[in-house]
Amino acid sequence: MRNLAKLSVPILSLSFVAGLVFWAYPEGGALARQIGIVLGWTGCGMLLVSLFLVLREARLAAVLGGLETMYRWHHRLGMAAYVALLAHPLLLAGASLPKAPREAWELLSPFSESWPVWTGWLSLLVLMAGLGATVSGRLAYRIRRPIHAALGLAVPVGLIHLILLGIDEPVLPILLVSLVLLACRLVREDWGLGALPYVVRSVARVSANVVEVSLAPLGESIAAQPGQFALVAFQSGRRFKGCNEFHPFTVSSTDGVSGFRIAVKALGDCTRNIQSIEPGVPARVQGAFGDFLDDPASTPQFWIAGGMGITPFLALLRAGRLDRPTILIYLFPSEGDALFVNDLRAIAASLPKLTLRLVATGDNPVEPGSVFPAGDDVARGEFWLCGPPPMIEAFTRFLRRRGIANRRMHFENFGPL
Ligand SMILES: Cc1cc2nc3c(=O)[nH]c(=O)nc-3n(C[C@H](O)[C@H](O)[C@H](O)COP(=O)(O)OP(=O)(O)OC[C@H]3O[C@@H](n4cnc5c(N)ncnc54)[C@H](O)[C@@H]3O)c2cc1C
Repeated sequence: MRNLAKLSVPILSLSFVAGLVFWAYPEGGALARQIGIVLGWTGCGMLLVSLFLVLREARLAAVLGGLETMYRWHHRLGMAAYVALLAHPLLLAGASLPKAPREAWELLSPFSESWPVWTGWLSLLVLMAGLGATVSGRLAYRIRRPIHAALGLAVPVGLIHLILLGIDEPVLPILLVSLVLLACRLVREDWGLGALPYVVRSVARVSANVVEVSLAPLGESIAAQPGQFALVAFQSGRRFKGCNEFHPFTVSSTDGVSGFRIAVKALGDCTRNIQSIEPGVPARVQGAFGDFLDDPASTPQFWIAGGMGITPFLALLRAGRLDRPTILIYLFPSEGDALFVNDLRAIAASLPKLTLRLVATGDNPVEPGSVFPAGDDVARGEFWLCGPPPMIEAFTRFLRRRGIANRRMHFENFGPL
């Protein structure tokens, strides 16, 4: 079921793009022109699906295999659309070049004083800027994000390019749909009108740079399960000035209808600011998203957590749901960096099926083999990993070498969404 949901986005993308190309397939003309037109519609279709995939609705995400899958395909389709749309005018001009070089030049030239050409190029330039910002490692996330968001404008501008070329029959309704999608994302999600109101009930300091925040709903609540994450935007309180941006945080404890908890590590401006949050601060919450720790097989379970990656496992343990033998391996640089250790020890003492292994790694990367003593049934195990990307990569390589199939390894990635 989980794998079927993950296939739904590629199936949706392929069907939509194929339908559009089938409808617009050009009869006759030079081959380069035909390919150019097909690439134009392919790029247009991929951009529309990519736009649809930015909707952060919990129910939609559950059907489409999760927010991470949606965002992965959103990026892939955006990149592929850019390549197709860049090739589109080049092939059209190339088709005219042998017989009518002037016409070929006018098709490409931004100096030809024609709105159809200008809007086409404008759409490509917006795409280029947005994608450039996305892949640029140098720009701060805060700057990268609005430039990337401007990518959404490339779709209506590209569609206006088609309308100006006189192709308005399927394009006008498509333009309308793209504007509705953009408006939904902006109003419901970025401005938070689709989010639920919560309030900070209590705050507990976990370490020098981590606080645990308990959130209570002011009305309807999200149905958060251990292993899931929520998008939370903190507003301003009496003394606290919230950054009011939605950031993803894994649920560290599910308190049923009465709310949930998140642990926040100071990593950048917004999360540093959250360290001084106080009870009574209003928040808006979207979610819950994700299916990490959902439906584990009945084989021995190995949970491998690094640093903040302990939160999904902690939530499941706090919920008291452990019905199969589980080894929790928690890695941290030094004792001072370990989070929730007292809670984990107390839970382990009360749960006979849980084996807790605390590993202080020092400053060097841990050798994965060293955390599995000879008695561990690694060959039959199922592995759940949450932590920094280098740790996950090292363990994945090690487990593959030990013959563990990919379907028995599950990850939660804390990278940018
Ligand atoms: C699924 C998921 C679950 C997460 N769970 C937790 C958690 O339980 N506790 C916790 O402390 N952190 C968690 N994070 C990471 C947390 O969202 C980022 O640390 C936070 O958004 C940083 O915001 P900032 O403005 O303080 O930092 P910035 O200065 O903007 O960035 C600091 C770092 O965080 C990354 N980052 C910034 N914004 C986001 C974003 N919206 N999504 C993801 N990464 C971002 C940046 O790329 C950069 O590496 C999670 C991330 C994901 C994707």
